[in-house]
Amino acid sequence: MAIMALNPLARVPKPHLHFSLSIPHRSSSSFSRQSLLNPSRRRRAASFMASASLYHKELAAAKRAASLAARLCQAVQKAILISDVQSKADKSPVTVADYGSQAVVSLVLKMELPSESFSLVAEEDSGDLRNDGGQDTLKRITKLVNDTLSMDGTYNITVSEEDVLAAIDSGKSEGGPSGQHWVLDPIDGTKGFLRGDQYAIALALLDEGKVVLGVLACPNLPLGSIGNPDKDTSQNQTGCLFSAKIGCGTDMQLLNGSTANRIHVTSIENPADASIFESYEAAHSQHDLSSSIAQKLGVRAPPVRIDSQAKYGALARGDGAIYLRFPRPGYREKIWDHAAGCIVVSEAGGVATDAAGNDLDFSKGRYLDLDTGIVVTNKKLMPSLLNAVQHALKEQIQNAALL
Ligand SMILES: [Mg+2]
Repeated sequence: MAIMALNPLARVPKPHLHFSLSIPHRSSSSFSRQSLLNPSRRRRAASFMASASLYHKELAAAKRAASLAARLCQAVQKAILISDVQSKADKSPVTVADYGSQAVVSLVLKMELPSESFSLVAEEDSGDLRNDGGQDTLKRITKLVNDTLSMDGTYNITVSEEDVLAAIDSGKSEGGPSGQHWVLDPIDGTKGFLRGDQYAIALALLDEGKVVLGVLACPNLPLGSIGNPDKDTSQNQTGCLFSAKIGCGTDMQLLNGSTANRIHVTSIENPADASIFESYEAAHSQHDLSSSIAQKLGVRAPPVRIDSQAKYGALARGDGAIYLRFPRPGYREKIWDHAAGCIVVSEAGGVATDAAGNDLDFSKGRYLDLDTGIVVTNKKLMPSLLNAVQHALKEQIQNAALL
């Protein structure tokens, strides 16, 4: 269902002064005059209206920032592919895109939402760029940032190298349970980016410890479908922007601007019909454990391996039914690797928990403290999935003891 035509690169609109334009989820008939005579319906209607108006300008700014950062990354990735650097060990172009993306998001958010209390929890810092030998890289990043900000005459400003360093370093916030904090992974899926595969710019907003909005810009994700041969793949346009706001559902549109469509997770109830997404890189997912879980569930399809939080976006639109992430022991999950993806999936009707079924807690600073791993699926499949996960983990411990 088409919801609205919205170019993510358009300037942030003025907030709505009344609610009637953007009540999500429900058709206007759901809130007929008759039904609003019922007090509980009236309360629910009021809560929908409040959700719709909350974070309206923040979501528009986030979509704009992530879309511009995606354009910077696309420009760098194109250059990498042309010069065939992706097959070499030299990772400097990635570093350039990571830094550039973080600077663009930070600068755009600050320009669109001026605030004394701006707080950003982000992956990169400028330490290496300030060292001897970082000058050339900093020059390249600064040029990339200026080129990106001036695209389509968007912003009429020129930033200096110092401005870029400061913008990157504004991502050093520790986050936490109080106040608002932006959470950013400027390039999630670095190795996918190098291979020319999937990666994402992942941006979320925490308010009092809860994720209230999230945006995933996935420049290499096809609009049609990934990993699901039954779904329509005729739409081969590439580059998707997922956006979600608490209580308002999840939308997807093309990165270069198109009508936004409401998306939903799959309604599959039988685990045997499910397909499983997991990380491409084995370091982020124990593939043997995933395969044991799949076996217990009776899943027939082979796993689909995708880099980055593009998995959350693909799952939110029903391309797959389950996402399993079990990093090697000792790996600490960072909040920017999951905050945007989680709300994109949960607002599309899915659930993301740790291996014990606990909600993910983003209020504890830069890290997620959780039990063993992360599992994501729809509400109907979650009980049997958690059951299979617990059995597979128990077996893994028993097998290790036998060795
Ligand atoms: Mg990253």
